[in-house]
This record gives sequence, structure tokens and C-alpha cells, in this order.
Amino acid sequence: MEDRQFGRIRFVCGDNNGKYPFNHSLYLQGDRSRVIIDPACSLEKLTRLKDEGVDYVWLSHWHEDHIRYIDLFENHSLQISRRDFPPLTDINIFLDWYDIKIPQERSNWKRIILEVFNFRPRCEANFLEDGATVDLGGLTVQVLPTPGHTPGHLSFFFPEEGLLFLGDYDLTSFGPWYGDVYSDIDETIKSIHKLKAVPARKWFASHDTGLFEENPGRLWDDYENVIYERENKLLAFLEKPKTIAEICAAWLIYGRPREPKEMYEFNERVLVRKHLEYLQRQDKIVSEDERYVKA
Ligand SMILES: [Zn+2]
Repeated sequence: MEDRQFGRIRFVCGDNNGKYPFNHSLYLQGDRSRVIIDPACSLEKLTRLKDEGVDYVWLSHWHEDHIRYIDLFENHSLQISRRDFPPLTDINIFLDWYDIKIPQERSNWKRIILEVFNFRPRCEANFLEDGATVDLGGLTVQVLPTPGHTPGHLSFFFPEEGLLFLGDYDLTSFGPWYGDVYSDIDETIKSIHKLKAVPARKWFASHDTGLFEENPGRLWDDYENVIYERENKLLAFLEKPKTIAEICAAWLIYGRPREPKEMYEFNERVLVRKHLEYLQRQDKIVSEDERYVKA
């Protein structure tokens, strides 16, 4: 995959095809301001872009695979949704938002976030307002709030070019992530519908395929349907009462155990827990004696 230029917008392809722990970045070349969105694609490319000229760093959201090389831009003004800023101010808030509580897991992740993802607390940011239109000089950006993945996740629409940056609504076959403390399944579904309705001609996503030059078409529904498939598998599994540990051991979300084991066990657990809360709110399941069963 190669970097591509669309008018004043550059799609900067990430290492490892933008798969976690990397992403794809966007570089915006306005007459007044030059912006890098989500600086986690590649150390080498971002170092070159910094030399080319960057005035602002924008973040679609707070996740580590979107801020990996933000330390290169320590003296640059940071812009993000107000709702997603708290984790960037303090590593402990960062870990709390992931609900990483077990001391050993917490110290392990703390080390990874600091050493691999170069986390440095930021005390200041300018906030991108929901629905704002930003004029960078010959390049207009509409800020679209797309909560669910994170509470302050932002997508960006570039009306002149007809380009839509989806961020982490990335249309991968794995499906959407909504496993954090403040992630939300309903909001995720609404955001997918909202993005699908934007009259774009090209689409960027933060990971994997990254660039869609034709309407992703069925991929929108496939992506959303992963949510319902997860739910259906869980409901079928809960014909008989099960504990969280038993549900997680069935790997209903990931299909099978994966490496690194601790990370995937954690991911499976938090996604299962979100679905259990969601199903309970809808009275589709009930819990008794720490076991869950279909209502
Ligand atoms: Zn994310």
C-alpha cells in the first residue's frame, strides 16, 4: 500500500498496513494551517512530515494506536474532542478508562503505554467542537462527532474533495470495538449509520484497507452485523446459566484463543461484559448467583 495525495489531503499509509499498534494518518495541507491527524503511522514518515511542516496535531480519539508518535510533536498544539482529552492528561486516567485494575496487568500496560506508545501527559489542548467547520485555507473540514468507540471519537468530512475519514469505524471484518469503560454499543450503531449516510466519494479508515475509492457498500452492513452476530452467539450460549469466566473461555468474540494471550483474554472479557450489560438493559438476559441466563 502506498501514500496517496488527494488535492490537499495526503493519506499516509502506516507500518504493518496500519494494523495495531500502528494506524494510517492523514496530512492536511491548508494554506493557513497544516495538520497531522492521528500521528501513529510510521516514525520515519512522521519525522519527514514534521520537516515538511506541521502546525497542529488532531486526534480522532485517545487510543494509544493513534498517539504512538505524538511525542515528535510535543511542542505542537493538540486538538481533540473535549470528551476524549482526560486520558491524555494522566497515565492513570488512561488505564482507568480501559478498566485495567489488576496490579500486575496495570503495571505491565503502564510500561507498554509509556515505552512503546511514548505516552507523555499533555496538560493543554484545544477542543474540536462537534459539528464545527474548520477552514484551514483552501481546505474545509467538518467535524463529525461519532461516539461509541470512545465517547469523544471524531470523524472528519472534507466536502471539497468528497472525502470522509472514518477513524476507528474501520470496516474491518473483526467488527467494531466498544470494550472500554465509556464505550457504548448503541452509540456505535448510531455512529455507523451516521457515517454511512455522509455523501462521500472516497473513504479513509485508520486501519487495514484504509482507503476505499468506491463506496464500501456491503461492508457497512457486514461491519454492523458483527455486533448482532456477537449478541446472537452470546444469547445462544446463555440457554443455560453461565459465569463470566465460562463465557470468556468459549471465545465467542475472537473465535479462538490468540496471542498475546493476556491481551486477547482481556479484550474478550471487556467486550463480553459490554454485551452482557447491553442485553441486561434490554431484559434479554437475567443474572443470578453470578451466572447469566437468557430471559
Ligand atoms: Zn480506537
